[in-house]
Formats: sequence, structure tokens, C-alpha cells
Amino acid sequence: MTGWGRTAPTLADLHRPVDAEAVTELLARPAARGVIARGLGRSYGDAAQNAGGRVLSLTALRAVRSFDVETGVISVGAGLSLGDLARMVLPFGWFPPVMPGTSHVTVGGAIAADVHGKNHHREGSFCDHVRSLELVVPGGERRTGAPGDGVFAATAGGMGLTGAVVEATVQLIAVETDRVRVDTERARDLDDVLDRMERGDEGYRYSVAWIDCLARGRALGRSVLMRGDHAGRDELGAGADGAVSEFAPARVLSAPAGVPSGLLSVPAVRAFNEAYFRHAPRCERGRLEPLHSYFHPLDGVQAWNRLYGPRGLLQYQLVVPFGAEDTLRAILERLSGERRPAFLAVLKRFGGGRGLLSFPIPGWTLTMDLPAGDAELSPFFDELDTLVVEAGGRLYLAKDSRLAPELLGRMYPDLERWLELRAELDPHGSLRSDLARRLDLVHTR
Ligand SMILES: Cc1cc2nc3c(=O)[nH]c(=O)nc-3n(C[C@H](O)[C@H](O)[C@H](O)COP(=O)(O)OP(=O)(O)OC[C@H]3O[C@@H](n4cnc5c(N)ncnc54)[C@H](O)[C@@H]3O)c2cc1C
Repeated sequence: MTGWGRTAPTLADLHRPVDAEAVTELLARPAARGVIARGLGRSYGDAAQNAGGRVLSLTALRAVRSFDVETGVISVGAGLSLGDLARMVLPFGWFPPVMPGTSHVTVGGAIAADVHGKNHHREGSFCDHVRSLELVVPGGERRTGAPGDGVFAATAGGMGLTGAVVEATVQLIAVETDRVRVDTERARDLDDVLDRMERGDEGYRYSVAWIDCLARGRALGRSVLMRGDHAGRDELGAGADGAVSEFAPARVLSAPAGVPSGLLSVPAVRAFNEAYFRHAPRCERGRLEPLHSYFHPLDGVQAWNRLYGPRGLLQYQLVVPFGAEDTLRAILERLSGERRPAFLAVLKRFGGGRGLLSFPIPGWTLTMDLPAGDAELSPFFDELDTLVVEAGGRLYLAKDSRLAPELLGRMYPDLERWLELRAELDPHGSLRSDLARRLDLVHTR
């Protein structure tokens, strides 16, 4: 098993329980090397794997227990993907409250990483919209968590290390159509994009900037800013029937297997970035775009992670607080100065987080993908880690595969409180993942 980055594969016993009762049975007697839940394996690193132990793939838990079409409150099995949830509720005028950059994420995975979307600056992360969750803990006991209690605070962003979420009740958001009204503008450099986002983001539900990490000098940080909101029925124009039913890419291509390493080289990424920047409109208002292509352009290419070749990719996602813009600049200077082929880098603004280990803090989050396998990458990222910590920032565990354990507590000041709660829920330290071992989160009393 690997994460989406396809680095550090390990072997485990994979079980596919068909319902919550089967999960309870499996957790009643955890394996010697522990157990961890797995969703659709879209975390990039080693969070959903457990070398030599047991992994519970929970994607069969897809049942809808209740759905109030008047209020948009839905209770679903934790294995349902956000894409399937969207497809199911859209015809009734509802949509998932938070959509990460892929729709192939389960509700359980969205809670365990407390995922964010392009609306974090206004609406927070996934767990801000979860009314309650059902957790099975080692020993087989079932616990209910709700905002304000310890089970919830430790499980939101807790990377599966408090138990297996089997069901959740989520408040959906109301939409009238299956389109997003998008405004696009180009920003000439980092100051320009930060300024535009600071001044304008509150006027939009969704905001994201694609950033050219290879641009240097005066063009450092040049970006394409894409912001939008759900389009109203009256915006579809005459003749449109106001249908809100479609949530699917028109066509899904598949990335070929056996792509050699090195395809995404510096010249290739530079050429792509140049073309992307030049192709984007300087300023365009009100383009109507299908939901899936605004939220998940990459879902149109199945297994696109194979394009990085056999050595895989590392995603690096950091957040630094507002006021630490110089750190962002320093990181971009390092990336472009060392000619790192950072592909598909994005910049977003965050509001606050909810869980004790939730990633978001108010500030700027920067995400980049880099090909794995370069021996110099590790010291390079170590240097970036230092810059991030010194600025009061942190890395996102759902993307991580390499952080040093001694930095975790500095990045997550609520770690001790989280460890106490985790010890109450899992006193024998049966919940284990490769990430937990790497970051010293495995404990035994
Ligand atoms: C292309 C792409 C774009 C992405 N964009 C974003 C983004 O914009 N924002 C963002 O926040 N994230 C983003 N992600 C990361 C992704 O949303 C998270 O890693 C998410 O947790 C993956 O969910 P999953 O169902 O695949 O879980 P997995 O990757 O299988 O597991 C992730 C973690 O969740 C735990 N887990 C899974 N299911 C359960 C359960 N039922 N109970 C308890 N724990 C469980 C696992 O133990 C593991 O620790 C992106 C990933 C990809 C590949």
C-alpha cells in the first residue's frame, strides 16, 4: 500500500468490512501491529498504511441513513466519497459544504484530515459542517462525537488515530444550479496576488490562486487567481431548465502506466507554467463553469500520479500566519532559485481550524507537488520546514511523508492535549499507521 504520492510502500493485512458491525468485530481484537482505517488512499504520504499490521478499507460503508431534503442535513456511512455524495444530493439542490481538490475522498478521510476547500476563508473546513460522528474505538466500543466534546476535537484532523469513523451527520449547503460563476484575473507577482486576495476574497465563496513557482525576479509569485460562487438559476439564461443534476467529468482519461521518471522536468514544467499563465485571461468576469471542472480539473485524468514515474511525488503543503508574507516570499525564492520543478502549486487563504490537530490556522497556505527521488530534496524540504516553524506555521499531515517528529509539537501546540485524548480512546495504543510510527504518535500505557 502507498498513499497518492506512491512513495514508501508497505505491506499490511487489508480487510474490507461491509458494515459498521463488521468494523466493530475487527476492532474488538486489534492485530499485534495495530490497525488503521483507510478511505480512498488520497492522502499523499503514509497516513493510511500500517506496515505489518492491519488496514481496514472502509469504502463499503456507503449507506445513507437519513436525508432531510428541506434542511440539507444528511447522515451517511463514512466510506461514501464526496463525489458520490455530490451526485446524490445535487438533484435536491444541495452540495457538500467543503470540496477538496479531488472528489475521490471519503467522508471518513475528510473528517480524519479535517479537509479544506477553496472556501476555507469564509466557511472553514469539513469538520465545521459535521453535526456528529460515530466512532468505533479499539475494543469495539462505539462512541459518538459532536462539536465541543473531546471525541470530536481529537477525531477532527486526528488522522484515524482515535478510531474508525463509521458514520457522520453533515450539514450540506444549498445550491440552485450545477455551475460556478468564475472571475479570473492574472496577478503579476507575489505582492499583487496577496493584495488582490486580501482585498477581494471576502466577496467570493471560493478563491484559489495558481502560482508559478518557477518565475523569478520581478515575476516571482506571478499567479492566476480564480474566484467564484455557485451560479443562481436566473444566471443560466433563457432556455435553460435550471437543472442541478450533473456532477461528473464529461470524459475520464487514464494516465498510462510505466511512465519513466523525469517526465516532469524543469523545462517541461517551465513551459507548462508559461503557457498556463499566458493562456489565462488577464481579467474575465462571470464565466459559468461546471462544478466538477471548477473544483476537480485533475479528476478528468485517472491515476495522474503515475505521470511522476516509479519514484512518485511529494506534496508539500504549508500554512504560515498572516503577517509572515516574507516567509512565503523566501520559500518561493528558494523554489525558483534552485529550479525545483514544482508543478500545480496553489495558494489559498485560511480562516481558523477546529480539531486539535486540524491543519488550518488563519494565514496563507501554499501547496506544491515535486517529483520524489532527488537526493537533494530532503535537505531542501528540511530547510523549508525550519522557515515554516520559525514563522509560526505548520505542515499538513495528510500530505506529509517526511516531517521530523521533533517539529510536530512546535507546529501543533495542542499536540499534548490530543495525545491525552487519544490515550483515553485507545489506551493500549492499537491504532497505528506508518505516519504515527514515524511521528512518534504511537503510545502504550
Ligand atoms: C488530487 C488531490 C487533491 C487534494 N486536495 C485537497 C484539498 O484541496 N484540501 C485538502 O484538505 N486535502 C486535499 N487532498 C488530500 C485529501 O483530501 C486527504 O488526504 C483525505 O484525507 C483523503 O481521504 P481518503 O478517503 O482518501 O482517506 P485516506 O487517504 O485513505 O486516509 C487519510 C487519513 O484518514 C484516515 N481515515 C480514512 N477513513 C477513515 C475513517 N472512516 N475513520 C477514521 N479515519 C479514517 C486514515 O487513517 C488516514 O489517516 C487532496 C488529495 C489529492 C490526491
